[in-house]
Amino acid sequence: METETLKQTSLADRIALVTGASRGIGRAIAVKLAKQGAFTYINYAKNEKAARETLEIIEEVGGKGALLQFDVKNADAAKDAITDIVKEKGNLDILVNNAGITLDGIFARTKEESWDDVIDTNLKGVFNCSRSAIRYMMKKRWGRIINMTSVVAEAGNAGQVCYSASKAGIIGLTKSLAREIGSRNICINAVAPGFIETDMTASIGEENREKLIDLIPLARLGTPDDVAGVVAFLASEKAGYITGQVIHVNGGLYM
Ligand code: NAP
Repeated sequence: METETLKQTSLADRIALVTGASRGIGRAIAVKLAKQGAFTYINYAKNEKAARETLEIIEEVGGKGALLQFDVKNADAAKDAITDIVKEKGNLDILVNNAGITLDGIFARTKEESWDDVIDTNLKGVFNCSRSAIRYMMKKRWGRIINMTSVVAEAGNAGQVCYSASKAGIIGLTKSLAREIGSRNICINAVAPGFIETDMTASIGEENREKLIDLIPLARLGTPDDVAGVVAFLASEKAGYITGQVIHVNGGLYM
């Protein structure tokens, strides 16, 4: 019984790609997947040094992985990168669409370029990587896609119109694709973090941080590991009957 449980949670022999894994939540996810046995590709956009640190952490805990630079906005680059993974390893089992940016500001003053940049990175990036990955997952009749959305996709947030629109789009994409490819044994889910301690939230001032914590029943901001554990579960055999869901990881901030 115990052996069966271990087998179901282990990701041994799985090949995973985590976009935006050089820092923050993506790094924690990459480390967690690799710890559980997956060979994990660490994607990043610019920050090779940080991506290399992620790989070092993985190797220190006995895991295996490799760096894979590409811009998720670029459809050809995403396709080439995923084709290379399959050439090298024979398959791609787990895709975590985590790369994301925020360009916050008052809507009336938002520039068209900001809208385009946020939508192209956060939403089109998910389209680009998922479209390339599912070809291989469909052939193998096994796959896991986990998309990083946000609490603000459902709750909204003043000053984050572009960002929350991109993250709400991810939820629609996730649910529709789950319906389309479920019969091929591919599960696609979204994870919606609340406020997590990373570079992205580093600019929240001390006063606002205290106000925010007052709104969170668990009385703290989240850590990247809080999110990574949920992603690793969704990537595992154990989550084989979960698809099209949005899993909130927000300390109770939004329910
Ligand atoms: P972060 O610390 O700012 O890290 C962002 C990561 O995305 C970096 O690895 C960055 O690579 C990568 N990236 C950015 N643009 C990219 C592109 N065009 N192509 C490839 N990679 C790109 O962010 P985070 O806080 O860990 O957030 C990770 C995800 O969780 C994002 O989707 C974010 O929207 C979501 N999220 C975060 C929070 C939060 O409170 N932190 C809450 C809800 C949802 P480089 O290092 O090369 O720049």
